[in-house]
Amino acid sequence: MIYLDNSATTPLSPAVREAMIAAMDRFGNPSSLHELGGDAALLLKESRAAVGEALGERFLRDGQLIFTSCGTEATALALLGTARAKTRRTASVILTTDSEHPSVEENLRILEAEGFTVVRISTKGGALDVDEALSYCNEKLFMVTMMLVNNETGARYPVEQIFAAAKAANPACVLHTDAVQGFLKMPIRAKSLGADLVTLSAHKIHGPKGVGALYIAERMLKERRIVPFLSGGGQEFGLRSGTENMIGIAGFAEAARMGAERLRGDFFRMTALSELLIEGLSGSEIRVNRPPVTAPHIVSLTLPHIKSETMLHFLAERGISVSSGSACSSHAKHPSRTLLAFGLTPEEADSTIRVSFSAANTPEDVEALLAALNEGLATLVRMKK
Ligand code: PLP
Repeated sequence: MIYLDNSATTPLSPAVREAMIAAMDRFGNPSSLHELGGDAALLLKESRAAVGEALGERFLRDGQLIFTSCGTEATALALLGTARAKTRRTASVILTTDSEHPSVEENLRILEAEGFTVVRISTKGGALDVDEALSYCNEKLFMVTMMLVNNETGARYPVEQIFAAAKAANPACVLHTDAVQGFLKMPIRAKSLGADLVTLSAHKIHGPKGVGALYIAERMLKERRIVPFLSGGGQEFGLRSGTENMIGIAGFAEAARMGAERLRGDFFRMTALSELLIEGLSGSEIRVNRPPVTAPHIVSLTLPHIKSETMLHFLAERGISVSSGSACSSHAKHPSRTLLAFGLTPEEADSTIRVSFSAANTPEDVEALLAALNEGLATLVRMKK
């Protein structure tokens, strides 16, 4: 079995599994005042510090890192929670890209229906149109929400540059990035990104599914610029009620510790695997959709007139798992928005597969994939042109 779908999710690392099993025995409720509660509260505090530190935030203040049920929830808190805050200023333009993950795009549609104006900047060829984005950086901006790394093409967007320009034009502008595909794949720090809000998810970094986090810059808390949409017992500093998923959180923390420790080596290893794949395809009929700046782990490939699903099954029969575009959009009936925004035709988007590595993959995995792709090209029936 060769697993090359690490952008959909990553295997749980053995150390994370151990940490989760250990957390199962520390069953107290972190909100309880007795000893068992205190022990769980300590585990929660240490876990929060570990995730914060992996994001370059060594000294988190209360409320600066909120655990959620997933990356999707963290983004919903970021977008809806700031739009609905009483302290919201009158500015009502939201700047984003035309290739955001549905967890951003679908919430933006809700905000559009509530009266916000959403401007989606082109990411043709996997490059953000910086001039177009900068032309919208003025006092009307309420928010910029821009993903750090695209989950289908691996494109790394220049969020720092846009955040800096937006803040210069309107210091009150809220700056959010969905860093789910960038966190611990490349070195990033919340402060160097210039972000007010950063979305993270555990299952893309060898942690468990069903746990995410939202990093919140201090100024957002001081100025009460974010409100919860889950209300109740007041857990997570009042920003996300509901008893914490302690086992998941402990796993997230261990994944963050390990990921931060291995980041440099993992980065080079995944880069080398991507390069090996791309070199192996030179001269082939398969086209690599390569953005100018990319994360190390994602490679998007367009097949010549072969449906991605057909190739997916062919590879699966040979024990190789990849995905068509993005697993998150496998429920969608339409061609991927991201691939269309990249400049692909609907037919090309329908013939595109995504290969995504983890540092546990090997050059032999790449060789096996290349051999299987070549065999597939030679044997699969092509669609009519
Ligand atoms: N954002 C991006 C870029 C993603 O790739 C994903 C998951 O695929 C998410 C957000 C959602 O994260 P979660 O599955 O934790 O809700």
